[in-house]
Amino acid sequence: MIMSKWNGIRRREFLATTAGAMASGIGSACRAATPAQIEEAAAKVGKLPRHRLGNSDREVTVLVGAATWSADAVEAGIRCGVNFWHKADEWDRGNVPQAILKNREAHFCQVCVDRAHGSHETGRIDEEAHYQFVKKSLVQTGLRYFDDMQFHFGFHNAAEVKNERGFVRAFERLKKEGLVRHLCLSQHHYGGNWRVKNGQNAAEILTAVMEDGVFEHAQFMYSYGKTEPMKEWVSQAHRKGFGTIAMKTTRGAGRMKEDREFMKQFPAGTSPHHALARWLTTATELDAAVIQINNLNEFVDTFSGAGQPLRAADVHAIEQMTAYADREVCRLCNECASHCEHGIPIADILRYERYAQDYGERFRARALYALLDRQGDACIACGDCLPHCPQQLAIPRKLAQAHRVLGSGIRG
Ligand code: SF4
Ligand code: SF4
Repeated sequence: MIMSKWNGIRRREFLATTAGAMASGIGSACRAATPAQIEEAAAKVGKLPRHRLGNSDREVTVLVGAATWSADAVEAGIRCGVNFWHKADEWDRGNVPQAILKNREAHFCQVCVDRAHGSHETGRIDEEAHYQFVKKSLVQTGLRYFDDMQFHFGFHNAAEVKNERGFVRAFERLKKEGLVRHLCLSQHHYGGNWRVKNGQNAAEILTAVMEDGVFEHAQFMYSYGKTEPMKEWVSQAHRKGFGTIAMKTTRGAGRMKEDREFMKQFPAGTSPHHALARWLTTATELDAAVIQINNLNEFVDTFSGAGQPLRAADVHAIEQMTAYADREVCRLCNECASHCEHGIPIADILRYERYAQDYGERFRARALYALLDRQGDACIACGDCLPHCPQQLAIPRKLAQAHRVLGSGIRG
């Protein structure tokens, strides 16, 4: 079995590397906004609507925040009432927002906990390692407790939900100590992934998680276009009162904005991020969603659509975005994985391509790509995977493109 070079490297260590790069200016060329600009941005968005998270007693803004946002966007988000912070463990005592520390009970801060001793594919569930990670993250952030302890990437299959209880035990120990409050997970697809034994797809695994009854809510990949079987699962979760937060929602919106020909035909009076925000928060059964934003302008453009109904222009926009994404953007379903005899991690490569092309995170994308044991240039264009892609993506062309964007950095 091929071992990933990610093995043994913790997310925190990787983040330390990227943080160094960010500090040296590799990751961002943006200057922070002034307090007046933040105020103006918050006024344009206004108070955000909230939804109940499943059957819990918590209400969260229909679009949640993330510690990966720029500091000015976080400030504006707080003023607009954003109260759930994804990946809060990525803050440290130097940059954790003072407004959250001062009014800690008004915010739900999430710690994202990875498998130990390997990657999301090869790593293990290890009670003690997860317990220690959360304790270390509390010291690092100064947040005193985390509201949500999230199992990052989730389970490999339904049997693991039942048989591997180490994550749940780590949560229960931390909860007794008053250091965490709610248990949740983000769930990726593992069906057909040859690096994972008996991998299943997210909907099957999440059904088992929901039946298990100890997790309060889940994050999962969800966007416009063909959403089955996740759409059915979201309906089921909605009926049963299990909390749902969509992630990886932009599905190419970042690159669409950069595509002049595409934008020439785009309906007037809306934008890809704005239409997406309206669609996610009013035309689905989701409780909430994460939309990746990179700066204050994107915050205003995106969050001003939260909870607002779709207008004719937005409906038309979503149709155009779906057609574009179906042509160009991998939905990370993993259907192709088991059909590549050369072991190319197609979905991982195309996920990193999204980070670079849509999230403006080129450095992070290249660093992750450099850790892969097989990269896009190992594709021999045999075409064996092609009939299995529900989008009929030109996978060899996509891999070659991704390698051009991602492969010029360091190689692990
Ligand atoms: S075309 Fe490339 S990715 Fe697809 S099966 Fe062949 S080698 Fe693998
Ligand atoms: S390339 Fe196609 S089959 Fe493979 S993960 Fe992407 S959308 Fe799914």
